[in-house]
Amino acid sequence: MPELPEVETVRRDLEKVLVGKKITAVEILDKKIVGGKPAVFVSAVNGKKIVGVERRGKLLAFKLSSGEYLLAHLKMTGQLICVSLSLRAKRGNLIAGGHQVGKNDLTVPNKFTRVIFAFSPPARGGARGGGSVGGTLYFNDLRRFGYLKVVSAEEKETIFKNNFGIEPLTPDFKLSAFTKIFRNRKTNLKAILMNQKLISGLGNIYVDEACFNAGLLPWRSAKSLKPPEIKKLFSCIQKVIAVAIKNRGTTFKDFRDGAGGRGAHYNFLNVYGRKGEKCRKCKNFIKKTKHAGRGTHFCPKCQR
Ligand SMILES: [Zn+2]
Repeated sequence: MPELPEVETVRRDLEKVLVGKKITAVEILDKKIVGGKPAVFVSAVNGKKIVGVERRGKLLAFKLSSGEYLLAHLKMTGQLICVSLSLRAKRGNLIAGGHQVGKNDLTVPNKFTRVIFAFSPPARGGARGGGSVGGTLYFNDLRRFGYLKVVSAEEKETIFKNNFGIEPLTPDFKLSAFTKIFRNRKTNLKAILMNQKLISGLGNIYVDEACFNAGLLPWRSAKSLKPPEIKKLFSCIQKVIAVAIKNRGTTFKDFRDGAGGRGAHYNFLNVYGRKGEKCRKCKNFIKKTKHAGRGTHFCPKCQR
């Protein structure tokens, strides 16, 4: 599942190639993704230009020239794959982001393609014919939990406000606000950090990493945390997210001219996905257990 750094990476990539482009055709292969009303969706996006790409937590919001926003949530298995969007890009150039993309998944459209957007210059042959100059954006989703939705600017603000807590690397992410979250809460650290309405953008990978860096066991109860521990955790979360963005995320695959590879950040993880391997700090073995319903990686010696 993509987390904040992965979605931010795809936001930046798409912003570079999509802003200024006009949607010239839309093909909906699965109407569930657009809320069951394909005609309403198509008329809201067709002919509109993309004027900006915003993000809150793991939700992408494409600002349209109509003033409305096209929201895109990748959820568990969503992917956005762009083909030849830049006029300067070589034919076949790809930007891919979201759920793990294997080399074999790169053929688009494929059986998981749910919606196809073609961009200006006008594509020949409808949405599927846009691979030559203007470009094509594919929304793929294996399990179909992701969605695309057009909302007004006010609705977007309400959704941003009601569904997302304070976000790392933004001005709202202050130690005082962060500390308040832990006060009087009986739930464990992992459940709190995973709760998007309290802190937005963190998922399994970066919660495990932040807890390790802060030296805290993920199942510690929130109210057991002392002020210096909260402060350490606060700064570790920001560092973990900033470094992951710098490395273009962990689960994202970034494909150029068909060459695949793991998101660079994979090599920098301390605990996530390292069960049975040696801790980089103390050389003890990394263990894996289950908390807040999710596989949880930790070092039994470095975390208390
Ligand atoms: Zn250790």
